[in-house]
Amino acid sequence: MISQALTTIRQRIANTARQYNRSPESVQLLAVSKTRPITDIVTAIEHGQIRFGESYLQEAIQKIAALRDNKALEWHFIGPLQSNKTKIIAEQFDWLHSLSKLKHAQRLNKQRPEYLPPLNVCIQVNISEEAQKSGIHLNELATLAQAIAELPRLRLRGLMTLPAPSQSFEQQRIPFRQMRIALQELQASGLKLDTLSMGMTNDMEAAIAEGATLVRIGTGIFGKRLNRQKQ
Ligand SMILES: *Cc1c(COP(=O)(O)O)cnc(C)c1O
Repeated sequence: MISQALTTIRQRIANTARQYNRSPESVQLLAVSKTRPITDIVTAIEHGQIRFGESYLQEAIQKIAALRDNKALEWHFIGPLQSNKTKIIAEQFDWLHSLSKLKHAQRLNKQRPEYLPPLNVCIQVNISEEAQKSGIHLNELATLAQAIAELPRLRLRGLMTLPAPSQSFEQQRIPFRQMRIALQELQASGLKLDTLSMGMTNDMEAAIAEGATLVRIGTGIFGKRLNRQKQ
């Protein structure tokens, strides 16, 4: 049941935060609702959830349109980014987690409508340097971050990552620790960043231990993922 699962996830977040001397409020919960029907999202909203993460654009815009009247909701795009998606993302979303190219940032900056506040963005880092995964490598991060921070219609908030899966807690902590250090280095260089988007259902404790400020949880809330809808 979604309500019970939400309670359990919130308890896991709070317990882990306290264990690492962090306040439970310092870790936000993003409910990853990709592939899930609107009714599941409505149930989560009834149980106090306001932040939702989507990966498939056609599916996401239907949900955003259906729930448009609820102004409290926050929509986060977390899926792979391509040039032909930037306009819809700029017009429809509050956050984008998967930015890793200056070219995309410049398009989004032009396309973000005047009547909306700047689009919140995180730079996706390919921390495990996997060939098939999107994201920038750490050695190119500082240059990209400085350039994105100059764009007035974007608000660079921090970093996002999706590390290669590993089983042990200590192994899981390693890439998350590298992410924390990378964020601290950018902050030390003068950028005002407040977000580390990292941790999913199977590694959220390790991410929180290393400073995640937002965990992205799908199956832990909604159960096993349904088939992806065609775009
Ligand atoms: C699907 C997805 C998640 C959620 O993963 P779960 O293992 O279901 O919690 C988190 N982040 C991204 C980028 C995703 O695509």
